[in-house]
Amino acid sequence: MILVVGGAGYIGSHLVKELVEKEQVIVLDNLSTGHRYLVDDRAVFVQGDLGNRTDLDAIFEKYPIQAVMHFAANSLVGESVVNPLKYYQNNVAATLTLLETMLKYNVKNFIFSSTAATYGIPNVELITEDCPTNPINPYGRSKLMIEQILADFASAYGLNYVVLRYFNAAGAHESGEIGEDHNPETHLIPIVLQHLLGQRDKISVFGTDYNTPDGTCIRDYIHVTDLAKAHILALEALLTGKKKTAIYNLGNGLGYSVKEVIETCEKVTGRKAVIEYTDRRPGDPARLVASSQKIYEELGWKAEYSLEQIIESAWKWHQWKGTKWSSRP
Ligand code: UDP
Repeated sequence: MILVVGGAGYIGSHLVKELVEKEQVIVLDNLSTGHRYLVDDRAVFVQGDLGNRTDLDAIFEKYPIQAVMHFAANSLVGESVVNPLKYYQNNVAATLTLLETMLKYNVKNFIFSSTAATYGIPNVELITEDCPTNPINPYGRSKLMIEQILADFASAYGLNYVVLRYFNAAGAHESGEIGEDHNPETHLIPIVLQHLLGQRDKISVFGTDYNTPDGTCIRDYIHVTDLAKAHILALEALLTGKKKTAIYNLGNGLGYSVKEVIETCEKVTGRKAVIEYTDRRPGDPARLVASSQKIYEELGWKAEYSLEQIIESAWKWHQWKGTKWSSRP
């Protein structure tokens, strides 16, 4: 049985939808930012907290857990700057309690959701996993701290782990029934689509004076189902003993500027956006694009969805959500 912590969130729920095809799955989520309706019915759902020993003991005593996949974290850079305590408490201290419980029950396989934010402001075209990690905000630091803890736990306690550093997760499941549902929404693609659906007056482009061809920031957008598939391969690698420890980037290897993303949204939807150009948002590096060559070579994973397909799937989801939302929990 596989424990998915944070399986009611955006990325976790997409992983669960793939994983239930192969494994028995138990989801632990406190629903602070996730949604019960996103969890596939074939998974066991427990509402509880990864920092709560009683919640964890109840699960580890009852179910034979072979591996833990950990998606439950706060992930807003700006919020982490204003409220670092929340980030160190939820992302670091609570994760430590989860790891401690795994050791107590002799569960040795762990998959950890990390982030491109661990790299800080890298000075390369394509970021590889051996680029220096110099996070520039508490969110990135909280994730890097866990990565360092994992390395120490592997040496000291024989913990096996795979760290997956996501670039910009986007898109929605092909069914159109699960997708991104953040409140408040801060991410570019959902904001543009909400605007094109008439749910926002305009969109703001944060900064036009970056050192990029059109002056707006460049990011690497990766479909959430591609991310989910990488987790399944990472899990198999741990369960078969193919890998003991590994760190992989997950991205498309293609960079798109904010302006290009907006143009692609306009093309996919056939609608025109009202754009306001504003100052830079603090903490945004000009360019973050992954090399995912390592996971391709070692586990055979590569991104399959293009930016256009990512936006098409997100558009389907946002239209569905707009019409059906009121009837969902
Ligand atoms: N962005 C923007 N307007 C918005 C939201 C985001 O211009 O309303 C920009 C943001 O500054 C960044 C890029 O879009 O350069 C992607 O931001 P997002 O928050 O989606 O992801 P991040 O890269 O911060 O994880």
